Amino acid sequence: MRVAIAGAGTAGCVLAARLSADPGIEVLLLESGPHYRAGAWPPELAHAFRIIKETHDWGFTAQAGASPRGVHVPRGQVVGGSSITNATIALRGLPEHYDDWAEFVPGLDWQAMLPWLRFIETDEQFGGAPYHGDHGPIPINRWPRDQWYPLLEGFAEAALARGHAWVDDHNAPGAVGVGPTPFNMRDGVRQTPADLYLDPALGRDNLTLVTGVRVDRLVLDGMRATGVVVLDEATGERTMHEADHVILCLGTYQSPPVLLRSGVGPADAITPLGIPLVHELPGVGRGMQDHPKISYRFWISTDIPQWPHPWIQVLLTSKAEVNGEERLFQVMPYVGFVDGGHRISEFNVQVADSRGRTGRVDIQSTNPMDQPVLRMGWLEAEGDRDLAEAAGRELMAVARTAPLDAVLDPWPNLDDPDHALRTVETFHHPVATLRMGRDDDPMAVTDGDGRIRGLDGVWCMDASVIPRVPSANTHLAVIALAEKLGAGFLGSTGHPAAAVAPDPD
Ligand SMILES: Cc1cc2nc3c(=O)[nH]c(=O)nc-3n(C[C@H](O)[C@H](O)[C@H](O)COP(=O)(O)OP(=O)(O)OC[C@H]3O[C@@H](n4cnc5c(N)ncnc54)[C@H](O)[C@@H]3O)c2cc1C
Repeated sequence: MRVAIAGAGTAGCVLAARLSADPGIEVLLLESGPHYRAGAWPPELAHAFRIIKETHDWGFTAQAGASPRGVHVPRGQVVGGSSITNATIALRGLPEHYDDWAEFVPGLDWQAMLPWLRFIETDEQFGGAPYHGDHGPIPINRWPRDQWYPLLEGFAEAALARGHAWVDDHNAPGAVGVGPTPFNMRDGVRQTPADLYLDPALGRDNLTLVTGVRVDRLVLDGMRATGVVVLDEATGERTMHEADHVILCLGTYQSPPVLLRSGVGPADAITPLGIPLVHELPGVGRGMQDHPKISYRFWISTDIPQWPHPWIQVLLTSKAEVNGEERLFQVMPYVGFVDGGHRISEFNVQVADSRGRTGRVDIQSTNPMDQPVLRMGWLEAEGDRDLAEAAGRELMAVARTAPLDAVLDPWPNLDDPDHALRTVETFHHPVATLRMGRDDDPMAVTDGDGRIRGLDGVWCMDASVIPRVPSANTHLAVIALAEKLGAGFLGSTGHPAAAVAPDPD
């Protein structure tokens, strides 16, 4: 059996390793960005806690939503994808938001996902807890409190003084409060599916990684996939790779365009571009969800000491009542930096329990080298703006509480009633552009196994299929779901021997 995996990002690396464990499967892994072996990464990539936007990034601009502002929405262009450029924050989110997945795929809930979330991790502080793993590939750890940056310690003390609960482990089911941020790193070096899954598998004869190629479209015989067409980014030459199955893992912004260029999706997004409509699937690229982020900047009235440890260490999660419902938000304080002579600290508020579904992905042409058309829809959903504003008010209250009040002065424009709407950006967690759903759901693009509805041999197993954004950063959810869907794929295609599964306990 020949399987082409389009995209060697977070999900693609997991799947390439798992599927190629069966010598009966020929795996071809197709990626635009370069490959670096672990240990040979450029220094800016290896460094955990740094978001990379300047290099190895697709450079996409999106329309914010209610306002027509153009906003940079980064995505990693490198083997490892966004897991190589992200901030290595390793959070799961609250169980109830995974339970919401079952509205779309019966049975796919927290109880179904927890074994996979445990399976992928070695939690170095809490691995013995029943809801954690202690022998999975991804190491998770937190900075001890005696190594916290003084400003972040001040933030935690002020939050506790405001009545927020202390949380040792933000990944414990139901944990809400202030405490150390968990990371997927070891000794300050990021730990990702590229080095932990893919690199050890690359010696296998049945796994081929091809970089520097742009995945263009599917080759379909009727409704059945027979291969995939790629463009060599250096020469412009097109190649067709035959495959029995194509698994899309190009990420939330880039998996839908491959279907659209193949004539699969909403007719009004395809036919105006002169592409023949092969299979009408109205949900392709529609209903994107993301976490809106609003930044609040403060002047710091003390010196910023040099500190050997990273700039994110502490996280506050809390709930605010919006329209009679308790909804979750995050506040993430950043260590100060100096800009234009001012010492500045930035606090980011994340609308964690976001209900937005108006984001969308389109294509502007048939050329795979053109960037997708991205409209984010931030703060358009009922209550999302209220939640953002409530989170901002709580952040300001913490900032005015001792001991933080002694060192922070808010920037004057924070009282602007439109601050959230004017400054909203991505917290980098887009999902649901090829959303899973039931047979009777007209906007469902994938089924609960990741199959594209109505096609044979075409799958998606990346963040695009997640039916509802978890109430936390999405990296762990993407890895756990890729593991689960990969195991299902192996079973359903008659290769169960290579499928791995969590321990029954
Ligand atoms: C800047 C940033 C910071 C983030 N911070 C965090 C964090 O701290 N914690 C957290 O939990 N989550 C974070 N996230 C989110 C998390 O990293 C993503 O949800 C996750 O990595 C998505 O995985 P994926 O497999 O869907 O896509 P990706 O990992 O993005 O993989 C897609 C791959 O496909 C390739 N590709 C795309 N189109 C083509 C094409 N046409 N042809 C060939 N190759 C192509 C890309 O180069 C990439 O390698 C962050 C994301 C970003 C971008």
